[in-house]
Amino acid sequence: MKIIDIIKANRPSLSFEVFPPKTSDKYESVASAVSEIAKLSPSYMSVTYGAGGGTSKYTAQIARDLTYLGVTSLAHLTCISSSKNEVKAQLAMLKELGIENILALRGDIPEGIECKNLDFTYAYQLIDIIKNEGGFCIGGACYPECHPESESVEKDIYYLRNKVEHGCDFLTTQMFFDNEIFYRFAERLSKNNINVPIVAGIMPITSPIQVEKMIKISGSALPDKLVKLIDKYEHDAPSFKAAGIEYASMQARDIFDHNFVAVHIYSMNKPDVAQMIKNNLKDILE
Ligand code: FAD
Repeated sequence: MKIIDIIKANRPSLSFEVFPPKTSDKYESVASAVSEIAKLSPSYMSVTYGAGGGTSKYTAQIARDLTYLGVTSLAHLTCISSSKNEVKAQLAMLKELGIENILALRGDIPEGIECKNLDFTYAYQLIDIIKNEGGFCIGGACYPECHPESESVEKDIYYLRNKVEHGCDFLTTQMFFDNEIFYRFAERLSKNNINVPIVAGIMPITSPIQVEKMIKISGSALPDKLVKLIDKYEHDAPSFKAAGIEYASMQARDIFDHNFVAVHIYSMNKPDVAQMIKNNLKDILE
């Protein structure tokens, strides 16, 4: 099923993200976590592609496993480290495996690499190729707190609109911890005639180490309420995890209450976390 049709059905949609194994010996344990999360009957599940723009040979396989499990899959695809021919080969494989949804990403520019030597510099160029291939529902990434490379919020929105015009059916946000930032961002998109649906990306923080890592990757601001929780439970791992799950559930509930229909949980291959968030939102999702 195409994700745009899931979103357009206008019912609360809760989806989860997983990441593929780096090596074949980890495939079974990842596949097992994926299948546990799939049992929660999410609206769809996304599978990341490499890290920092690297490639991944297991993304398509995990996405295919999901379709066998009866869950709509969204395969991420980055382009910065690939040639046009490599991207075309990936698209052919995704098509052959029956995967209908792609999150089209640039990936992070590898250190010491000159963009002028690459086939791709921005995600919209990947979108052009996917569009040309035909038959895929295409998502793009967006950044409520601005992409770290953008000169200004205005430029960020300008290039986001360009990306959408090249063929995004929907956008998924970078994680954010302050819903007000997301609501202001959604308003900014609408004022700038970016009218495709936005899926709100929520990251449950379940350990102090994860906080540092995630802030470094995303640059997201931490609201006082969350900082207080982190300080309070810093040395109490079970309470920290429970509070992180509660906070993410509260964020998701508030987003649905503000009439947004789609929330995507960065569940990081953790079925227990996905399960608890789904339970916390049971009344909304039923
Ligand atoms: P782009 O849309 O190309 O934007 C990158 C920067 O270039 C922005 O600053 C933008 O404003 C600017 N820009 C865009 N177009 C132009 C233009 N025409 N001229 C000048 N400037 C321009 N990374 C992975 O490696 N694997 C993943 O699976 C993955 N999944 C992600 C999922 C989500 C929901 C998000 C939000 C990010 C994900 N990332 C992933 C990280 C992402 O690849 C990086 O954030 C990357 O730096 C930007 O990718 P993009 O697709 O947003 O790039």
